[in-house]
Amino acid sequence: MNTSIDLIQHNVNLQNHNTLRLSSIAQAYAKIDTFESLSHALQFAAAEKIALLPIGDGSNIILPATVETLVLDVQLRGIQVIKQDQNHIWVEVAAGESWHQWVLHSIQQDWYGLENLALIPGRVGAAPIQNIGAYGCEVKSSIDSVNFIALDKINDLNSLDIKQSIQTLTAADCQFAYRESIFKQALANKTLITSVVFQLNKSFTPMIDYPSLANRLDQTGTESDLSAAEVANAVIAIRSEKLPDPKVLANAGSFFKNIEIDQTQFSEFISQNPDAPYYESLNNLKDTANNKRYKIPSAWLIERCGLKAKRSGDIGIHQHQALVIVNYAEDKTPTTAVELIDFASQIIATVKEQFGFTLQIEPQVIPSQS
Ligand SMILES: Cc1cc2nc3c(=O)[nH]c(=O)nc-3n(C[C@H](O)[C@H](O)[C@H](O)COP(=O)(O)OP(=O)(O)OC[C@H]3O[C@@H](n4cnc5c(N)ncnc54)[C@H](O)[C@@H]3O)c2cc1C
Repeated sequence: MNTSIDLIQHNVNLQNHNTLRLSSIAQAYAKIDTFESLSHALQFAAAEKIALLPIGDGSNIILPATVETLVLDVQLRGIQVIKQDQNHIWVEVAAGESWHQWVLHSIQQDWYGLENLALIPGRVGAAPIQNIGAYGCEVKSSIDSVNFIALDKINDLNSLDIKQSIQTLTAADCQFAYRESIFKQALANKTLITSVVFQLNKSFTPMIDYPSLANRLDQTGTESDLSAAEVANAVIAIRSEKLPDPKVLANAGSFFKNIEIDQTQFSEFISQNPDAPYYESLNNLKDTANNKRYKIPSAWLIERCGLKAKRSGDIGIHQHQALVIVNYAEDKTPTTAVELIDFASQIIATVKEQFGFTLQIEPQVIPSQS
């Protein structure tokens, strides 16, 4: 049995726990692979009055040089069918499962809805946090509910059976939006997600409107005879060509969110930049005049500013993907979050000056307490 003595490690180097490979030391760290270890870790935090930071694979996180919290490395595992009807199946997936392996597993089982989200790095527990999305789909469309422990109430938790303290939010209550959810807003830093319940389809309808996916699939077959595996394979092929593998070149995927604007801003922008790419927002948000909202790819704005392949020391914009900031540092001279944020601030300032838009950083920036 784990006790807090062998569970909690001190002064742990997190460089291998974040895909940007930033230099970061955690005051305390615990691998959470059972509810028992979770219970022990929470009791330790309550006794020591230390804050908590749940993490997954660290593919969407910017860690400061010193993390003055107990880092909870959520590795809970398990995939369980909850119920089904003629058209749908509900499956509970533990937070520590690999996102991509879960997508592949769902396709193998003939459960559909996640194909376009193949190969997104990270674990299942982080997927609702920023409502992961790619190739015209967002995970919110397949989420039934999210189970979590309230980290701001750890003194009130049932330490004998921590599962009794699990709370549930339905998808409607999660306030999902573009790269947003309640877990980044009202509940920011207040939850540890233990599992996600997905509602998947038993029949397959390809979602291939996204231009690069549609182009790729035109080469391999017609829409009517496409299988879920073929769509996922096309997504995997495009992603592998387009995005740097963090195991080879450290990065956190898209570093900036795309710009989302209303009709008035869009009309002004497009009249000044008639060649700019754009697409209608997925969120179907309407402004008061009932106009649509539009997304402008931030990669295009960055390229237009002449910043593609810009480099400062070990930090740079990826040569082929302007939205991705990469870290070239060797492990002997590791990069810190300060250098990274300085570099990003220069990009933000240049885009603001040229276009008037303020780019938002997509990964979660963990503040330094020191
Ligand atoms: C090459 C690359 C490509 C990417 N492509 C995409 C993409 O196409 N679309 C997309 O949406 N994202 C993309 N991302 C971002 C990233 O993969 C996702 O955001 C992913 O969901 C992060 O998972 P993670 O386990 O690594 O989370 P982490 O980075 O470890 O954590 C992210 C945030 O979630 C919190 N968190 C993690 N686990 C839990 C938990 N169990 N309970 C409570 N809070 C938790 C952390 O505190 C942190 O704030 C990409 C990243 C990379 C490196």
